[in-house]
Amino acid sequence: MKKITYALALLAAVALVGCSTVAMTGRKQLMLVSNSEVLSSSLTQYQSYMKSAKPVVGTAQAEQVVRVGKKIAAATESYLRANGGADQLSDFSWEFNLVQDNSANAFCMPGGKIVVYTGILPFASTDSELAVILGHEVAHAVAKHSNERMSQQVAAQYGGAILGAALGGQSQAVQAAAAQVYGLGAQYGVMLPFSRKHESEADYMGLILMSMAGYEPGTAVTFWQKMSAGTQKTTPEIMSTHPSDATRIADIQKELPKIRAKYYVAPAPTATTTTAAKKTTTTKKTTTKKKTSKK
Ligand SMILES: [Zn+2]
Repeated sequence: MKKITYALALLAAVALVGCSTVAMTGRKQLMLVSNSEVLSSSLTQYQSYMKSAKPVVGTAQAEQVVRVGKKIAAATESYLRANGGADQLSDFSWEFNLVQDNSANAFCMPGGKIVVYTGILPFASTDSELAVILGHEVAHAVAKHSNERMSQQVAAQYGGAILGAALGGQSQAVQAAAAQVYGLGAQYGVMLPFSRKHESEADYMGLILMSMAGYEPGTAVTFWQKMSAGTQKTTPEIMSTHPSDATRIADIQKELPKIRAKYYVAPAPTATTTTAAKKTTTTKKTTTKKKTSKK
């Protein structure tokens, strides 16, 4: 009798924390670590990272990161609101940072903590290019890839003990997994590289987010071509364990027409109206009035 009760409790536990679905792709994922644990452990990691980082503030580039980041954040929130994810809005408390670091990298931690390294800016001089990066990174957070990786770590390291770990609050297993996943100061910067599956998913979702934020998604193709040509010798997060560059670009090109048609809203022109949503070239407007663009 006791055994049956135990088995039922296990089943219930698995049902509670064992499985989840990615918002934009419908993919099922392993979730053994609770959301609140992921958020609190990543906040700790983020804060300790920021203590040692050299943030750039007050420059045009720093403002660009904040400006584009806010639009991507707003698009993320409207997507979640419109697609049954309103309960996830409270998970995000957005922060946008440009940090002095020569590697061509960027990341977004769970909870919406965005960091862009100055080393990636040569590849992203326009807002649209930056939106490719931020859309991709925020997508990792929306898809809870960190949670999935922590769950995989817990499963791999603790095997049968995973349920205890998942249910035991701030367990050692979870903390160890968080340390592994975030690996501060490790070779790849802040985070371990994501898997190919996660990269492809973030690319796809990133296209949706940037489109909804008003950035022409075709920029992703030229951006990745530039990155591919320019970062042969480095392996930043955004370029690591990837589908090969050619595959990635081909995948993006395949999804592009559908996503553009469904999600891209060309930003309302400030003065004259042009119906054709032409690819926006470097329109640098530093003195537009602050207006809350509602989409
Ligand atoms: Zn990525």
